[in-house]
Amino acid sequence: MNLIDRCCPHCQSTQTSPLEGYNKEHWRIVTCEYCDFVYLRNAPDYTTLQNEFEWEANSKAERKRRRKNKKIYYLLSDALKRIKFFFRNGQRKEIMILEKLNLSGKTIDVGCGDGFTLSQMPSVFTPYGVEISKPLAKLANERCQSRGGFVICDKAVDGLKQFPQDFADLIIMRSYLEHEINPLEVLKSAEYCLKPNGVILIKVPNFSSINRKMKGINWPGFRFPDHVNYFTPVSLVKMVETANLNVRRFNFLDKISTSDNMWMLVDKPSVETSSKISDNKNGNHTPESISSAKSVALNPEDALDPKAKSDPKVELEEDTI
Ligand SMILES: [Zn+2]
Repeated sequence: MNLIDRCCPHCQSTQTSPLEGYNKEHWRIVTCEYCDFVYLRNAPDYTTLQNEFEWEANSKAERKRRRKNKKIYYLLSDALKRIKFFFRNGQRKEIMILEKLNLSGKTIDVGCGDGFTLSQMPSVFTPYGVEISKPLAKLANERCQSRGGFVICDKAVDGLKQFPQDFADLIIMRSYLEHEINPLEVLKSAEYCLKPNGVILIKVPNFSSINRKMKGINWPGFRFPDHVNYFTPVSLVKMVETANLNVRRFNFLDKISTSDNMWMLVDKPSVETSSKISDNKNGNHTPESISSAKSVALNPEDALDPKAKSDPKVELEEDTI
């Protein structure tokens, strides 16, 4: 196994503090001393993740082990899921959120797996995806092609940059960013291929959840080593804004601490809005600064980093308890 020594994926600082009580075997979860981001410092490199921690095998084995060890917990968890599913009239939560937005158009699912989520999208969406696993990408591509879209088999950043600038109306990152070694670079790439005023839907485990504080290292959000980022509501907002994106919706229920997961809607400001934001942040109101801010926001070379990758996603099984 090839491990890399990661700097902070948000601010690139190498100054970290170990997160006492949250390390398992030789895996080191740390807190960035500069921006407080929590992450796995010694993470497997891209090739190792792709070859040795392939999503299908890893997630099935982990689920089987957990269910065997905690039968009562999973009976309760499954019952709760069924109740929530019933009250949602059998709809997936992301579909419910998107319907309220009245969105339509080109949709890219990052780490789309076998394309199931895309296949559940209403017909007003044309499904596209990026998936690193060849067999999963093949399945997803078949599903998407029947509806006019396609799937690119590649790492997230390399895959996203194959789409034109301002291409997508919607990008989905569901149970994805916690696996991504370079989450900020992927968000920047998403910002590049998202239309102005387009939306990104994000779902990640909530490191600030009550369940994590109660269960400690046994919290199901810990998945060594394929979960490499541990977002809190604060750190998720920081990273999204660093990627030049706006938080559009992140209300109390989206980040409620009784849930293991949190949901966020992000949008890409229009060029005019982006310039104003950059201008205000800089405190400089000259025409030159406005022009400079636009070029920063629109320069694809700044938004794309070939080092980044996507990892297959593993959804956090537990939710509200
Ligand atoms: Zn940092």
